[in-house]
Amino acid sequence: MGMKVVKFGGTSLADAEHFRRVAEIVKADPDRHFVVASAPGKRFKEDVKVTDMLYQCYELVREGKDITDYYEKIKERYNTIIADLGLDFDISGELDYIQNAITHRSGQDFAASRGEYLNSLILAKFLGYDFIDAESVVFFRENGAYDNEKTNEVLSAELKKHQNAVIPGFYGVMPNGTIKTFSRGGSDITGSIVARAAEADLYENWTDVSGCLMADPRIVDNPLPIKTITYRELRELSYMGASVLHEDAIFPVRYAGIPINIRNTNDPAAPGTMIVSGTSEYDSKLVITGIAGKRGFSVINIEKDMMNSEIGFGRRVLDVLEDNDISFEHLPSGVDTMSVIVSSASIKGEAKRERILTSINKRVHPDSVVIEDGLALLAVVGRGMVKAKGTAARVFAAISAADINIRMIDQGSSELNIIVGVEEHDLERALNAIYKEFVK
Ligand code: ADP
Ligand code: ASP
Ligand code: MG
Repeated sequence: MGMKVVKFGGTSLADAEHFRRVAEIVKADPDRHFVVASAPGKRFKEDVKVTDMLYQCYELVREGKDITDYYEKIKERYNTIIADLGLDFDISGELDYIQNAITHRSGQDFAASRGEYLNSLILAKFLGYDFIDAESVVFFRENGAYDNEKTNEVLSAELKKHQNAVIPGFYGVMPNGTIKTFSRGGSDITGSIVARAAEADLYENWTDVSGCLMADPRIVDNPLPIKTITYRELRELSYMGASVLHEDAIFPVRYAGIPINIRNTNDPAAPGTMIVSGTSEYDSKLVITGIAGKRGFSVINIEKDMMNSEIGFGRRVLDVLEDNDISFEHLPSGVDTMSVIVSSASIKGEAKRERILTSINKRVHPDSVVIEDGLALLAVVGRGMVKAKGTAARVFAAISAADINIRMIDQGSSELNIIVGVEEHDLERALNAIYKEFVK
């Protein structure tokens, strides 16, 4: 007997029809003991995710408005699922309690988390599985960081008491008992945490695409699926915008050596993508494994003659960032220039920007220091790049041929990835140009 932990995303649990598919998948394999569920996602393009509606309720309360009418839509989503499934299950008490709690300012995270909570109650009932509230098994520390040790200890002990169970994704509890969520898309992290605590052989992550694709299907038409990818490659891709799996979902399972299989709820026969720790056999002739990109970066450009001989220059610049609670993304440098790439969100606001520039001026007396916005970064990732000569040249040639200006280049020392900075408005064309160059 094996042990599989399965996580279903929002679109996989958006309505009764999808609940039935999920039940079929779960019941098709007796190893699928523990199920992590998301809140109901979009049923069609213009639809609104329940999580977004809950955030909106919180906003309305903050503005002093009444949520009764708006909350009706949330009630309707759940009641429709229950009715369409033909379940004899009354959650009106739960729904009223939550409405009341949100109205009495129970907090943003509490509001957002109820999407997963309610959906998991319904799914547990439908599957005939136990319900384990994430609130009693997923812990955060005082400073808001996820508490790996405590969670693993309590959760593994709890899982041992159950043959089969549904656990809501996305949230856990703070030491003072209040609910805290992971960042958006965080049910993927819960799935990974449960897989580790259950000592699973496999973590199946069921979504609405047939695995991790070589590029974002909303940007590149019909990208090829990736059969096998390493944790490190996927971490690079997801960090850079391949939103198919939360960028932090890798850690708990990687630690325990549990592979992740990304699968499609709407096409269960498709093998999807296997995410593993290392892979010696290459499953394709392609040099690159995948590409991804995201907008919203800024560059702090610093110039100073003889910078290269000034010991401690870089450290003093990074001290300024640290003092302002900013982490940096990349640090490309020349002999007399240093560029620090940061997310634009982390240096938002005139006052903060002024403070950073003034401190850098004071600490290192540069010839010039300026902040430039509007940068997009894209990552070309592949374990095959180490062996293939001329990959970088092909990337740059493809981008240049598309008449796109390259603003920055950074290659990791592991030769697993090449990072290229382009203007935000060029991102999609650049990704398409690279894809075409490598996938013929
Ligand atoms: P879920 O609700 O199941 O967690 P998400 O919407 O979070 O699903 O993630 C799946 C989506 O990720 C896909 O529908 C697709 O639009 C997007 N996506 C972005 N990049 C990629 C990629 N490289 N491969 C697959 N999907 C991607
Ligand atoms: N429902 C949450 C979100 O929309 C978490 C998740 O789906 O993973 O972000
Ligand atoms: Mg997701």
